[in-house]
Amino acid sequence: MAKYWSKLVESLDPYVPGEQPQDQQYIKLNTNESPYPPPPAVAQVLKSFDADRLRRYPDPQSGQLVQALADYHDLDPRQVFVGNGSDEVLAHAFQAFFKQDEAILFPDISYSFYPVYCNLYQIAFETVALDDDFRIDFDGFRRANGGIILPNPNAPTGIALNLAEIREMLADNPESVVIIDEAYVDFGAESARSLIAEFENLLVVQTYSKSRNLAGLRLGFALGNENLIEALQRVKNSFNSYPIDSLTSAIGLAALADETYFQDCNRRVIESRERLSGALGELGFEVFPSSANFVFTRHRQCAAETLYLELKKAGILVRYFSKPRIDDCLRITIGTEAECEKLIEALKTILG
Ligand SMILES: *Cc1c(COP(=O)(O)O)cnc(C)c1O
Repeated sequence: MAKYWSKLVESLDPYVPGEQPQDQQYIKLNTNESPYPPPPAVAQVLKSFDADRLRRYPDPQSGQLVQALADYHDLDPRQVFVGNGSDEVLAHAFQAFFKQDEAILFPDISYSFYPVYCNLYQIAFETVALDDDFRIDFDGFRRANGGIILPNPNAPTGIALNLAEIREMLADNPESVVIIDEAYVDFGAESARSLIAEFENLLVVQTYSKSRNLAGLRLGFALGNENLIEALQRVKNSFNSYPIDSLTSAIGLAALADETYFQDCNRRVIESRERLSGALGELGFEVFPSSANFVFTRHRQCAAETLYLELKKAGILVRYFSKPRIDDCLRITIGTEAECEKLIEALKTILG
């Protein structure tokens, strides 16, 4: 054991995010960032922001931002919680809801931060295997549990559940909290937000990092019943009173106001995704049906690790997971049209 470390720290197995190389300019298709800049109003905020505001602590409740998100999602402000990225919101939610007698459930192939939070907070979990087509096995979730979490669309598969399926899961589990992690929902899935009035056990988590082109800002939020939001406030106020700084609040507000730009970027990503999926198919890839800003794919002949390494040599980063069941797959973020074309050209060369 390293000197001074607690037993808990010694036992942690921290999350490893996708590479963010600082040396070379890559075509970055590995961490699901948007290929498009934030809306123009964001640059305006940065130009006109009064530096003197930074002398003061920010509003600990982020009242204006919470109100704007509540209005946008047709909810009461008491049904909205904001955090420093949705990763922080998720961490608080694990602590607030998932430390129960029964183990929590999530898919075996899913966001790899979930088991990391479980380790940190000493939460028991069981995984439910996706079927051979990487779809969520619905019946596998019909068992006693201390909570359920799933991304919708799932990551890294991109495959979405429909609202009827989510409704059924909520109705089946009135005694546990079901968290739907909607990091990618704006790229073609249905949000469960409309079910909040009906299900007091539903927490929906969204982020500005993907569909709002602001991964560097660190802003995420949860939507749910007042009782659940109050629990998140209690954890947050026992941890950090000011997770959202003044500048982030101002940018978050400005970005939310430009609906046309938001819709336009997402439409372009979806169009590129469909074109890229077709082109990959012609090169001998199997492409899983994606409702996200990435595709999950495997080549029928060429090993995924080889493709990942060869693409990296060619200046293109994609995500390769050396994990059971998916070590023959690549996750490729949708870039601009030009970036997608360069990817296809590079793959043609590599595959000969
Ligand atoms: C990207 C991602 C997040 C985290 O997003 P941040 O808001 O940037 O912390 C959460 N869940 C899933 C499934 C993601 O892919």
